[in-house]
Amino acid sequence: MRLFLSVASLLLLLAPTVAAEQPNIVIIFSDDLGYGDLGCYGHPTIKTPNIDKMAAEGMKFTTFYSAAEVCTPSRAALLTGRLPPRSGMCSDTRRVLFPDSAGGLPASEVTLAEALKAKGYITACIGKWHLGHLPEYLPMKHGFDSFYGLPYVNDMDRVPDKGPKGRPAFFDPKIEYWNVPLMRGEKIIERPADQHTLTKRYTQEAVKLIKEKKDTPFFLYFAHTMPHVPLFASKDFAGKSARGIYGDVVEEIDWSVGEVLKTIREEKLDKKTLVFFTDDNGPWLLFNEHGGSAGLLRDGKGSTWEGGMRVPGIAWWPGTVPAGVTTQEMASTMDLYVTALKLAGADVPADRPIDGFDITPLLTGKGKSPRDTMFFYRGTRLFAVRHGPWKAHFITQVAYGKGAPTPHDPPLLYHLGRDPGEKFDVAKDNMEVVKQLKEIATKHSKDMKPGEPQLEKRIPPEKK
Ligand code: MG
Repeated sequence: MRLFLSVASLLLLLAPTVAAEQPNIVIIFSDDLGYGDLGCYGHPTIKTPNIDKMAAEGMKFTTFYSAAEVCTPSRAALLTGRLPPRSGMCSDTRRVLFPDSAGGLPASEVTLAEALKAKGYITACIGKWHLGHLPEYLPMKHGFDSFYGLPYVNDMDRVPDKGPKGRPAFFDPKIEYWNVPLMRGEKIIERPADQHTLTKRYTQEAVKLIKEKKDTPFFLYFAHTMPHVPLFASKDFAGKSARGIYGDVVEEIDWSVGEVLKTIREEKLDKKTLVFFTDDNGPWLLFNEHGGSAGLLRDGKGSTWEGGMRVPGIAWWPGTVPAGVTTQEMASTMDLYVTALKLAGADVPADRPIDGFDITPLLTGKGKSPRDTMFFYRGTRLFAVRHGPWKAHFITQVAYGKGAPTPHDPPLLYHLGRDPGEKFDVAKDNMEVVKQLKEIATKHSKDMKPGEPQLEKRIPPEKK
């Protein structure tokens, strides 16, 4: 009897506890979309009526940051609430994971999916993963109940003898040039994935999930493969936009966002679902018309200038997030981690540093963002710090190619309120500010304990 009781109480302890009003959490995460690529962020020729409507019905951020300048570290930070060096998911030599990578997000990290699942949520990952493609690193090993998507990027697994070499392959892409797998759960179901229909099929999966799971709180992590190159749109969108194939792809993502919101409304879940739309890093400017635009921000993907990490951010939750608000308050993808946990009634892990903040007061129109500082890492190194409107660059480097890191002492200093394009270095006239930002950087670096590096590990040739 005593044994029975202790087993029963143990089970009770292990059982997920459900808070009274747990909202559904949907994060829509596009890939390499620029700050200037949406209608509601000022793009003159890409039409995004659904995302614009989402912004009009919700809150649009003008100062929202991804946690890194490239894919893998950015995704690791979103799902752990931690700066990439802490999980080891960044590197100065290999900037993201590749198909020959042996590493991935360590099991010791507490992902958003794991934390929400423990609170009774159904958890689904649809789209691009890119946090480790070996079995031990796939989404279902990190708290997701289901996965439908690509384990890494759509430009990997290049087939050497197909199509032109180098960049020209991207400018007239064919499916067979990239032998990327589409997976369901832990199985490959299509290879090469038909990339023309990925956005459409991801969307069908998302709509199905929302309809099926409407009676249980759910967390949907919907990470689009596009508009990362190579660009592919479905028949309904190809050739339709004034912005060429890039615009076609973004307009299809806009359609997808519309379908998700429409389904949430039809299922009468709009009053209990937080949807957040954002992106993993800035536009890939190397790809000419196939890359996006950071608008008035400087540079793009791969750099720690604003264009590399400041991204669109839109919150939607009718009745809770006030409608039609544009906020200049600072926030980051890492804040979504902490905010989602708080909303779900989950505890934020207390045994490790967490770099996110609870932005619920801002989202609900009741207060300001608790975030006043943002750290800009390139790989494992701190390149820049923003505090309030001031940003100091201690190191700069061209986004891609052979340019070496250039240290700056005093750092380059920009006032992002007056100079969002980072054009005018005003360090010499503001040495007190420089001193303050240096102190913030020094203290932060002293406290930073990097995790075991994951991005440099390779699969031995005999196991490939
Ligand atoms: Mg990306």
